[in-house]
Formats: sequence, C-alpha cells, structure tokens
Amino acid sequence: MRVHVPDEAAVRRVEDAATRTGDADVLSETDVRVLAAALELDAVLVTDDYAMQNVADALDLAVEGVSKEGITERRDWNFQCQGCGREFDEDRERCPVCGSDLARKNPN
Ligand SMILES: [Zn+2]
Repeated sequence: MRVHVPDEAAVRRVEDAATRTGDADVLSETDVRVLAAALELDAVLVTDDYAMQNVADALDLAVEGVSKEGITERRDWNFQCQGCGREFDEDRERCPVCGSDLARKNPN
C-alpha cells in the first residue's frame, strides 16, 4: 500500500474542522492523516466512522459509508460513560446505570 504523507496545511485544515465539529478528541492521528490525504487528493473518503464523516462533511469532502456497500468489516467502536466509566458496545442516549452521557472511544 502506498502511503501518502499529507502536507502540514491539509492536516491543519482537518484539525481546525475537527475542532469546529467537536470531533477533535475522538479522531486518532491516523484518522486526521487519512482525512488530510483525502482532502489533498480530492478523494472520496470511505468510512463508517461518524467522527470522520462529520469532519469530512465540514470540509466538503465526499464520503461513502462502508456498511451501505455490504462490506461487513468495520471499525469497532466502544462507548464509554463519562460519569461512571462503564463501557458499551453500542451507542446509547445515556448510560443506563448512572444517566451520564456516553462518548465514543477508540479501542486501539
Ligand atoms: Zn454511567
């Protein structure tokens, strides 16, 4: 696989957009690099990652979801309660234990 190293300006645009959308905390360094590369190459971003989709949207990047295409492999996100710290496999409005908000958590 060819690795495209995005330039600093593209990375900064992605980070700015992520800050605006509130996704900066959940994007990994790799996510930012992938977004920056897509931005530079004017590529269609293929991801089911909501944070990446949000940021791509803020940058006017074209996004395609993976699962819609019938591909089953997808990134496994966990959600963690901001109050009690319990982790869940699926997103919920609120923690069923303490009622606090859940946040996405990258298991890597
Ligand atoms: Zn909780």
